[in-house]
Amino acid sequence: MKKIISLFVLLIVFTTCKNLDKKAEESQPKQEKTEFAIIIHGGAGTILKKNMTPEKEAAYKAKLEEAIRVGYKILQQGGSSLDAVQKTINVMEDSPLFNSGKGAVFTNAGTNEHDASIMDGKTLNAGASAGTTTVKNPIDLARVVMDNSPHVMLSGKGAEQFAEEQGLEIVDPKYFYTERRYKALQKIKEQEETKLVKDDKTAFYDSDIKDSKFGTVGCAALDKNGNLAAGTSTGGMTNKRWGRIGDAPIIGAGTYANNNTCAVSSTGWGEYFIRAMVAHDISALMEYKGMSLKDAAREVIHDKVGGLGGDGGIVAVDKNGNMVAEFNTAGMYRASMNDEGELIIKIYKE
Ligand code: ASP
Repeated sequence: MKKIISLFVLLIVFTTCKNLDKKAEESQPKQEKTEFAIIIHGGAGTILKKNMTPEKEAAYKAKLEEAIRVGYKILQQGGSSLDAVQKTINVMEDSPLFNSGKGAVFTNAGTNEHDASIMDGKTLNAGASAGTTTVKNPIDLARVVMDNSPHVMLSGKGAEQFAEEQGLEIVDPKYFYTERRYKALQKIKEQEETKLVKDDKTAFYDSDIKDSKFGTVGCAALDKNGNLAAGTSTGGMTNKRWGRIGDAPIIGAGTYANNNTCAVSSTGWGEYFIRAMVAHDISALMEYKGMSLKDAAREVIHDKVGGLGGDGGIVAVDKNGNMVAEFNTAGMYRASMNDEGELIIKIYKE
């Protein structure tokens, strides 16, 4: 009898606990899913308020707003995240403010060589182009590589030939010239000559050429159909040599999108972002460890990239429309918009 009573008591305690658990679960606020969302970056680096003029700051903010509103409109009208990403990036590629398309940095040889990539989170299809010198909008090339070729990444002359065949706009390489970026290359070269930065791996990145080493552009978006996409476009790093390719066109490093997790676009010191496989690593932490986008991005940018000695940042959006901008530099040009049209534009660290 005693045994039966004890069993009965245990049963009551167990059922009460289960119900309490259920109540606790129910009292949690329901996680709101955003219908669509878009976030962009215009590069991360030593962006300090003391080096900015109000006019320059206003110009960057205005261009970021112009760009993100293009993507927002596409998403609002039910368009795809892929189109939103591509068209938003086009606006920044056409602006000399950013290190992509017009305004790209110069290589050691005095040329402008562009890298870009785009990825569809629904199908895991991806396209990329590397080292092109005549394609006006490299993100458009990445898109046609994904849509119209059997390959994922094309480079150099072959990529340019494909762009032409696809009817993309081809320009004289002179189109990409900007005085600011050209001067930045000259300054690095002078420093090299005076051995200030010789044999120093920070030659590309850590000299006092404050404005020359950032400005890569990228975008991540979620559309009304729940599809994620991301894209990145860059001129790479000032003074790069020997056909150097950065992280931007490497799927998994500069760009990644997967409807099960998130969409990510990176910017920063490419060599580190390749070695840390930044964009895919964030997605993998979410997929395999069940981490939130925010926690995954923090771990990868601060612990992994930072741990290796690299710097930069990412913008990303998850499948529920949560958006994150994470960086370990002084600043990152960035903007985001949710489905209510709330616009946030920031440059410096909070
Ligand atoms: N990640 C780019 C590269 O290494 C540069 C940048 O984002 O500023 O080519």
